[in-house]
Amino acid sequence: MIKNLTSIALMILVSVSAFSQDNTNNNKFKQLYQELPTPNAYRTASGAPGPWYYQQQADYKMNIELDDAKQLIKGEETITYTNNSKDPLTYLWLQLDQNVRAQDSETKLISTQTLGKRSSFSHLNRMMTDFDGGFKIEKVTDASGKDLSHTINKTMMRVDLPNTLKPGGKVTFKVKWWYNINNRMEIGGRSGYEYFEEEDNYLYTIAQFFPRMCVYNETEGWQNKQFLGRGEFTLPFGNYEVSLTVPEDHQVAATGELQNASSVLTSEQRDLLNKAKTSDKPVMIVTPDEALEAEKEKKTGTKTWTFKATNVRDFGFASSRKFIWDAIGVKLNDKTVMCMSMYPKEGNPLWEQYSTEVIAHTIRTYSKYTFDYPYPVAWSIHANSIGMEYPMICFNGGRPEKDGTYSEGTKYGMIGVITHEVGHNFFPMIVNSDERQWTWMDEGLNTFVQYLTQSEWSAHYPHRRGPAAKIVPYMKGDKSRISPIMTNSESVWQFGNNAYGKPATALNILRETIMGRELFDYAFKEYCVRWKFKHPTPADFFRTMEDASGVDLDWFWRGWFYTTDHCDISLEEVNWFQINSMNPKEEKKISKEQNESKRKFIGQIRNDTTINFLIDQKPELKDFYDGDYKYTVTEMDEKAYEKKMDKLDEKEKELLGSGMNFYQVKFNNNGGLVMPIILEFTFTDNSKKLVRIPAEIWRQGTEEVWKVFYFEKEVKGIEIDPFLETADVDTDNNYWPRVVRPTRFQMYKSGGYNRGQNPMQKAGMGKKTE
Ligand SMILES: [Zn+2]
Repeated sequence: MIKNLTSIALMILVSVSAFSQDNTNNNKFKQLYQELPTPNAYRTASGAPGPWYYQQQADYKMNIELDDAKQLIKGEETITYTNNSKDPLTYLWLQLDQNVRAQDSETKLISTQTLGKRSSFSHLNRMMTDFDGGFKIEKVTDASGKDLSHTINKTMMRVDLPNTLKPGGKVTFKVKWWYNINNRMEIGGRSGYEYFEEEDNYLYTIAQFFPRMCVYNETEGWQNKQFLGRGEFTLPFGNYEVSLTVPEDHQVAATGELQNASSVLTSEQRDLLNKAKTSDKPVMIVTPDEALEAEKEKKTGTKTWTFKATNVRDFGFASSRKFIWDAIGVKLNDKTVMCMSMYPKEGNPLWEQYSTEVIAHTIRTYSKYTFDYPYPVAWSIHANSIGMEYPMICFNGGRPEKDGTYSEGTKYGMIGVITHEVGHNFFPMIVNSDERQWTWMDEGLNTFVQYLTQSEWSAHYPHRRGPAAKIVPYMKGDKSRISPIMTNSESVWQFGNNAYGKPATALNILRETIMGRELFDYAFKEYCVRWKFKHPTPADFFRTMEDASGVDLDWFWRGWFYTTDHCDISLEEVNWFQINSMNPKEEKKISKEQNESKRKFIGQIRNDTTINFLIDQKPELKDFYDGDYKYTVTEMDEKAYEKKMDKLDEKEKELLGSGMNFYQVKFNNNGGLVMPIILEFTFTDNSKKLVRIPAEIWRQGTEEVWKVFYFEKEVKGIEIDPFLETADVDTDNNYWPRVVRPTRFQMYKSGGYNRGQNPMQKAGMGKKTE
């Protein structure tokens, strides 16, 4: 119930508009002129590539040899670099990412460490490793084989050009190298091998294995942020032709289309691949039995697999004799995308049931929200305990127990990681942002579309990120351990929440609450289409989202991307008003009732029943003021009423008699983030009404606002954010009147609870192993 009903004289109604009392902090709606680069002919104010927009191109021809006996990669590459800028270039920069594992790597020096009373072997292994995994650059030459002067600067290499590379010109040069492949399971890494000791086999998931061109553009010049391990990659587009020489019984998956199927696959396998194109279920290309056979037999010769990829920013591959292979075709308009998985038996039964179906679902759903997936294949490769993405191929964890059971966490972790890593084809492999600078531009956008994709998997999908309420624990955390989203990758606190969870949530809030699905989806698609196969910056994203939707979002970017403010809107105060009808008969009756229902002081209550008051003993002491004069309607009252009514026109009289209820509500913004106020009123007849107030209600101040709502019905309760849209960190202050809910706590006796088993094992579903 509402407590304080007040009658108002009608004149109060002139001030129903919202007002604020604090005007000192109203720059939350200031445009982002200082924060964003000035628009120019390369990148326009609308967020699109401008008339002078250009990007460099790097084409690669590579011969790569995987040495399974020594676990090393040997390679030779011919890079053709096209200078599309208007700048003459006298040197080129390449990335030598494997040098992060060189013995003199600075990554080890700058990583901070502590030891507790307990420390795991793997923790110490990673800290104490003296593994030498750096690139051994053997030769850098021009196209004719003449040495080129080059300088290695940690994870980068400068190649000095004998002749200036003019605008529009091309230069071709060669690099020869080798390096030791890291044991991923022991010392970690996005790339590396897993060793299966009991059968003496290796499973390789290989990337960053070749010297790669850095990006040169008008925003940074040559990329000059070293690879320290976290901030990922910044890469130009180009065409790749790669020959991979591996043990002859290995199955190989890679970026691009296989060029020599007839020399590496059996005719039966090629037929099956053809069949898979139009099948509605994944088709086995290499069966579990065939993989098991290869694992045991261990052939000793080699085979060379050749792949070609057009317009990609990188190249990755996987190779093992342990691989089972299945495939299905997904039709997107006039194209068919081959969605394929490779996994060892250790991935089953999860992988044969889900991997390829998840790729297909991801490709379809992402295409709907962005653009049709433009590449011919999409791979998911089983690589225990990681998730890592490359064009057309990604390495994903999700491994069941040895008895074939798995927890719900393992299942959805696997579906989630495959959706996420396949989704990375769109961000950043095609919408090619600078990962070294901005993790959120690929991880955040990708996690957002991942959420949309998982939402179409099942109604009960256990989302980890996306819904606003999921980010609340992070948003209300210690502000000295939180950074704004607009922070360089290496300096971000709480990487997952900052660069994945918060931006994904912010986009979801834009879509569901601030812009609405229609405006948001149009603008988001516009951004994706504008920047596919190009290099967008944060400003290009912010500007396009506003430009294509007609919604000023500077306040939203400012709050969500440039600050660590959180949303905590509280319902501070509610005052109930009704219009004074001016009719003395009605008003005096109401006054009397109100007076009688008022709370009384305990002294008065006791006195009323125990004291024989003097004026009752001596009635001659009573006068006019001891009577009921306040609530008695006099003739003068009636006349005054008639006179007042004569001055009112019909509309005014109607309002006076409407019985309308007014609620003056005070909202406080305790978190600093400006957000819409979403209110649900419940009336005494239990009907409800939703009111959505845009964030601009805070435009003149940010600490408190008042607003008056009016209804014919009486309000029983008010709730802020009833559909959990705003990531409000304290929902206790969202109710009027305040609501208390019970927490149920469990009693227990020590012991007896069977921990450590997943629900499938408890249900007796594990297969017996000998
Ligand atoms: Zn990711």
